[in-house]
Amino acid sequence: MPWSLLGWSPTGEQLSLLQQLQEELRLWNGRLNLTRLVEGEDYWIGQVFDSLWPVVPWLQGAADPPTPLEVIDVGTGGGFPGLAIAIALPGSRLTLVDSVGRKLEAVRAMATALGLAERVVLRCERAEKTGRARDCRGRFQLAVARAVAAAPVVAEYLVPLLASQGTALLYRGQWTPEDAAALERAAATLQVRVEPPRALDLPGGRGRRHAVALTPLAPCPPGYPRPVGVPGKHPLGELPG
Ligand code: SAM
Repeated sequence: MPWSLLGWSPTGEQLSLLQQLQEELRLWNGRLNLTRLVEGEDYWIGQVFDSLWPVVPWLQGAADPPTPLEVIDVGTGGGFPGLAIAIALPGSRLTLVDSVGRKLEAVRAMATALGLAERVVLRCERAEKTGRARDCRGRFQLAVARAVAAAPVVAEYLVPLLASQGTALLYRGQWTPEDAAALERAAATLQVRVEPPRALDLPGGRGRRHAVALTPLAPCPPGYPRPVGVPGKHPLGELPG
């Protein structure tokens, strides 16, 4: 695994946890078909590297934070990027959200097997509900989502969860000028700044990735997220067709 390309490398204990996570994923994938990225480079690059490269700035400042970093992974599916972040950031508390209960039960079992249960909270619900829940709205320093929906939809899920100094990180594959323009329109409504996207070519010719960060300019307006299903059906900033 090309840790030097990542700009961070795991301790022996973290490496062993990442290996255990692969074993757990194998076990649960056999039952539930959570992901196709389980073996070899599919796992180490497609899951681990791809989950961690956008959060390297947090990993580098991670030594021993005075209070745990509150992180939320929305649409965690089989547990990525959330579980990889929980391992890489020992001073973090992770909230993992997905609306599909059987996936979350597998993630719960994996977190428990890895000894992470104390730092990992699971919420089986739609992200539109999480953004309105009293114990989640405005609470997180870092809110992430990989492969969940179009960027304006994900922005509407993540921004209401952010603390005033928090960051939403959108994990994207391709990032076109049209994607950027659509996200800018959504960002104006949600009162966030779109930071310049970061780009990286995954090792092994596995494609180009982008990480797009959003930072609050003001509290998220109270009407967002809209009710369940509305963000996906009518993405913010949609141009009249
Ligand atoms: N983040 C994982 C990854 O990168 O491997 C899973 C990606 S999977 C393609 C998308 C996941 O997002 C699914 O598990 C789906 O249930 C979840 N999801 C999509 N929309 C959601 C919503 N509004 N609320 C909660 N979960 C949602």
